[in-house]
Amino acid sequence: MEEYRDDEYEKICMICKRPETVTGKQISMPGGITVCPDCMQKTMDQMGSSPLTMQITPEMMENFDYEQESEEPDSEKSEVEIEKKKKRKPEVHFINMADLMGGMPNQPKIKKRKPGEKKEPLIQLKDIPAPHKIKEALDEYVIGQEMAKKVISVGVYNHYKRVATEYEEGKVELEKSNMLMIGPTGSGKTYMVKTLARILNVPLAIADATSLTEAGYIGDDIESVVSKLLKAADNDVDKAENGIIFIDEIDKIAKKKNAHSRDVSGESVQQGLLKLLEGSLVEVPVGSNSKSPMVPMTTIDTKNILFICGGAFPDLEEVVKERLNNQASIGFMADLKDKYDNVNDIVRQVTTDDLRKYGMIPEFLGRLPVVFTLDGLTEDMLVEVLKEPKNAILKQYERLLEIDEVKLEFTDGAMKAIARKALEKNTGARALRSILEASMLDIMYEIPKDDNIGKVIITEDYIEGHGAPKIEMRGAYE
Ligand code: ADP
Repeated sequence: MEEYRDDEYEKICMICKRPETVTGKQISMPGGITVCPDCMQKTMDQMGSSPLTMQITPEMMENFDYEQESEEPDSEKSEVEIEKKKKRKPEVHFINMADLMGGMPNQPKIKKRKPGEKKEPLIQLKDIPAPHKIKEALDEYVIGQEMAKKVISVGVYNHYKRVATEYEEGKVELEKSNMLMIGPTGSGKTYMVKTLARILNVPLAIADATSLTEAGYIGDDIESVVSKLLKAADNDVDKAENGIIFIDEIDKIAKKKNAHSRDVSGESVQQGLLKLLEGSLVEVPVGSNSKSPMVPMTTIDTKNILFICGGAFPDLEEVVKERLNNQASIGFMADLKDKYDNVNDIVRQVTTDDLRKYGMIPEFLGRLPVVFTLDGLTEDMLVEVLKEPKNAILKQYERLLEIDEVKLEFTDGAMKAIARKALEKNTGARALRSILEASMLDIMYEIPKDDNIGKVIITEDYIEGHGAPKIEMRGAYE
């Protein structure tokens, strides 16, 4: 484990929450509290001018009793003495700020930037896997989506090449390659990005566009996506600045057609995202998703953060089809109508014009130069999703029973039945797990009861609810 060193973290002013790199040298006080020179000055000024400051008047001094208090009970004192005691000045205490702070939660810390460190890119050119290597790694997990895997591998490779060579002077400046993925629910958009971040070992934040609103409205403000990334990077600003932010459900912030009222969650959120996508300095709270006076702030530069937006864009095929049909009617492409009857084939033809028609604003699309589509999964692909990926669900169940020394098998028919059921739900591969879990519950419950069971075969009938799984006893096949 990395050794924890106090001097690696920035001092944060307890009043204004700005770090030392912004405020200049801070003043340390007992109890680990630090205050910046500005706030210290303000506090001093205020103390001097406050009307509440107690002025000691000669009259007060007169009434002040310097005598030691006698131990006698009041009843035995003369009336004059009791009167005198009443006039005594109240006791004055000094409050130790450090005592007050003792009850406060530990403040999150921000890693200090070492001087000159900024000039060294965190990611070295030699460490970036070539596109074919990235795709190979993705192949181990993501089924199908060949084109998408290829495009994303090249896009990511280019992005990190740009990051790694950022400080080379006099070279052509490379543009940022943020991406837009279009694909139905459960086709692997989030899964692909998650796998990618793991392969590249960079922090990843996943946000939902529908929860984002302009600052001032109820919901997360747009910059919250950056603080999520900082959290994923364990508050390490440099790591976060080289991370990936995935914004899901981006189609939900499309401009509404015929919207008369002010469109809080749509167009204005697209507008708000522009600056982030392009690269800007964002002040974000550390260790929290919301800004509050108690939370320290830090600045993150988003210029090297890779933004990947994803969305299902339902009915996008209608927009594309309309365009294709209009072109076809001109005469050249008369056979188009029959050619594109498959939704996947149509959506693959998408252009930025179609997306603009759908309600994405041109400036937003301009900042997502890499656009690609994912196909809806077919029954055969769903069967593959069940058994092929490195962490396939069937492999996970097999492993669970293997620990009980029981073999688990699925017939081809059973796998197809699970895939069929999933297709009916229209949520892509997402439904697979829940369907399987429902079917496997009884088995996972019953098998450990009987030590003699050596093998369980899940059949199509069992999945369809018409029968029991085939059970073989230990001796039978050993
Ligand atoms: P979405 O496209 O809606 O973001 P997800 O990526 O969240 O869908 O997919 C849900 C789950 O389905 C994933 O966690 C993954 O296990 C599985 N899955 C979806 N698509 C694929 C795929 N192409 N290959 C392998 N697994 C997939």
